[in-house]
Amino acid sequence: MSTAESVEDWRNDASRDLVRSAGDRYEMLTRGEGAYVWDENGKRYLDFLAGIAVVSLGHAHPVFVDAVATQAATLAHVSNYFATPPQLALAARLKRLAGTGPDGRVYFGNSGAEANEAAFKLARLHGLAGDGKPGRPRILALTGAFHGRTMGTLALTGKPAMQEPFEPMVPGVEFIDSTVEALEAAMDDRVAALFVEPIKGEAGVLELPEGYLQAAREITARHGALLIVDEIQTGAARTGAWFAFQHAGITPDAITVAKGIGNGFPIGALITFGAASELFYPGTHGSTFGGNALATAVAGAVLEEVERAGLVEAATTRGVQVRDAVDAIGSGLVEGTRGMGLLIGVALRHPLAGAVVAAAQEHGLIINAANESTIRLAPPLTIGDVEIDEFQDKFGRALHTVESAMLLDHTPTEAPA
Ligand SMILES: *Cc1c(COP(=O)(O)O)cnc(C)c1O
Repeated sequence: MSTAESVEDWRNDASRDLVRSAGDRYEMLTRGEGAYVWDENGKRYLDFLAGIAVVSLGHAHPVFVDAVATQAATLAHVSNYFATPPQLALAARLKRLAGTGPDGRVYFGNSGAEANEAAFKLARLHGLAGDGKPGRPRILALTGAFHGRTMGTLALTGKPAMQEPFEPMVPGVEFIDSTVEALEAAMDDRVAALFVEPIKGEAGVLELPEGYLQAAREITARHGALLIVDEIQTGAARTGAWFAFQHAGITPDAITVAKGIGNGFPIGALITFGAASELFYPGTHGSTFGGNALATAVAGAVLEEVERAGLVEAATTRGVQVRDAVDAIGSGLVEGTRGMGLLIGVALRHPLAGAVVAAAQEHGLIINAANESTIRLAPPLTIGDVEIDEFQDKFGRALHTVESAMLLDHTPTEAPA
């Protein structure tokens, strides 16, 4: 079959057979290794998105491959009526990395949304009236933050356009601006929980104001509300700490993790701290697949390798290098960079992120448009000098392609701060 025919085939198959909620697929990818993937025609791409901050170790990493194969050949799945060694090992590892101390607990699901659904139920349990205490029907979440696509997590997601087709929403959630003043104004003793995305990834890699998490910890504690930090995109070393909340030196009541902990094997988790660990009681939540031996063995091996290879520190140093590389391109289209570690937003001066992503793909580089004027970069944590040099070259050429096409003013601008 000729290449042209096969391209036709897969595009037709995709548009006929796949649900239309995602747009047209860009390319058909067939293989990956390290920071690279290949399409069906053998074209190589440098993957600076890593499946949206998922493939922490890079594609087909031997530790990942071995963990999948070994555990699949040993014991993949039993019901949650039973414990398995990899499940208990991963729970203990996550507690240690999150710093819960002995009284932390871990709930396993299969995705970020499932982790956040569990967190939503945790907030409801905390909000129950009883023992003479009044109830807490209110839940606070931040405008623009993303927490998932299921009905519970969509209700927590501060993006009205995403919610509208699916109204009515699960009730009780109120959205506030990401300022300490807005939190102070909204908070009272009827709030069960505040949900926070420490860096708003889907919104364009937007950081919280300096000191926000510390203030949020103090304000929620003062009113007896839970502080729940969604670390699904920021966790697993991505920002240069195991979890982004650790940069702020606080102790939350719960965090949720997913994306980067499985290197592509679907898994999510809710990790609770202190008294919040006692809220779930038998019968209140569960999942058939959640925490099975295969998923937990793979995530355990991935996190062990992140630790062994020093990738927490690498996220910081490589992140600086990537941002320097963006600055060094000196493109008039780029306003500056933001983010932490290897979760980076490149702010554009014009709403041309889609065009830049398309041009980058032409040049063999995969990046993402978080919104129309922000490029999101989230490469594997294993990238080195070679990949960063190649990124600079390809990203520079993509920016240049778009600048030329749009006939923009090429006057050099001062280097961003
Ligand atoms: C990706 C993401 C989710 C949802 O995770 P899924 O695995 O897609 O359900 C939730 N919160 C944040 C911050 C995310 O980045």
